[in-house]
Amino acid sequence: MTLPAAELTPVLGSLYALQVPIPYPMKTVTVLLDAPRGGPLSLVDCALDTPEARQALEDGLAALGRHWSDVDQLVITHHHPDHYGLAGVIEERSGANVLMLDVEIGRGERYWHMLKEWLPGHVKHFRDHGLPDEFLAGLTGENPRVQPASRITPLREGQHVSLSGKDWEVLWLPGHADGHLGLWNAEDSTLIAGDAILPRISPNVGLYAYTRPDPLGDYLQTLGKLEALNPERAVVGHHGPVMGGVQARARELRAHHHERLDFMKLEAGKEPRSAYALSHAMFPRDLNTSGRRFALAETLAHLEHLRLLGQLYRTWHEEQEVWVYHA
Ligand SMILES: [Zn+2]
Ligand SMILES: [Zn+2]
Repeated sequence: MTLPAAELTPVLGSLYALQVPIPYPMKTVTVLLDAPRGGPLSLVDCALDTPEARQALEDGLAALGRHWSDVDQLVITHHHPDHYGLAGVIEERSGANVLMLDVEIGRGERYWHMLKEWLPGHVKHFRDHGLPDEFLAGLTGENPRVQPASRITPLREGQHVSLSGKDWEVLWLPGHADGHLGLWNAEDSTLIAGDAILPRISPNVGLYAYTRPDPLGDYLQTLGKLEALNPERAVVGHHGPVMGGVQARARELRAHHHERLDFMKLEAGKEPRSAYALSHAMFPRDLNTSGRRFALAETLAHLEHLRLLGQLYRTWHEEQEVWVYHA
């Protein structure tokens, strides 16, 4: 198998975006490499641990005259496997300082270290919302392509990270993940956005056993934040590496979620149903097991947002042992 040569997109000064292959439909994830002359080597995000990703990272670093062992700091936008998988490997090989937003360390990232403790709650959450057992089979929460870091340094919103010799402000952009981090450079009107906003696809916003109670409410606020920030360009996790029109895209995504909220209100108003049953109304197409779980989590994020607004209710159905949503 021949691998494509390292494709580095210049972002700003010594900062480059590298498209690293991932075995997901998005095909690649963006990893940022910053290698200022004589200065520290920084990475933002690090892809899944696959041989292809390791090779792409090695090639990208080599193109900048650097190596794994040179990495000084690794900033992670959020704990999802495609952004975090190699964190432990990079930490071990280089002794790099791994940084994440404080919220993400306490919630998402902890998931990788406490699978055994979290799994029963994870499964119960899906079951209580009607997911049939066939979609729970094989749900171990484990991912052999994720090597968690052993020490993580917390970043707080408002702090600064240095990339390409400039200060980038740490932003909290929750919704897609509880502690999703963004990096903002006002001088160059550039945002490192991870999956907080994406072109072409709507970032998945799901309610899980271990998420904040209203991820969709969080995400709608994040979209407002991005709209107000109005960056000229954003470096994005997928389908990028760089996108313009962030403000317009934020408005579009908000309208999309508002449409889905209206639809859920209408559907739940027809007859009381479980979130799983309602997820088939929202996502009627054929989905595989993990797709069905994503669909349920996304549907739940909309239903719980409406419930917390007082626009829908939920009641425990004794015989079916499931929560049902109703008007
Ligand atoms: Zn993600
Ligand atoms: Zn992603």
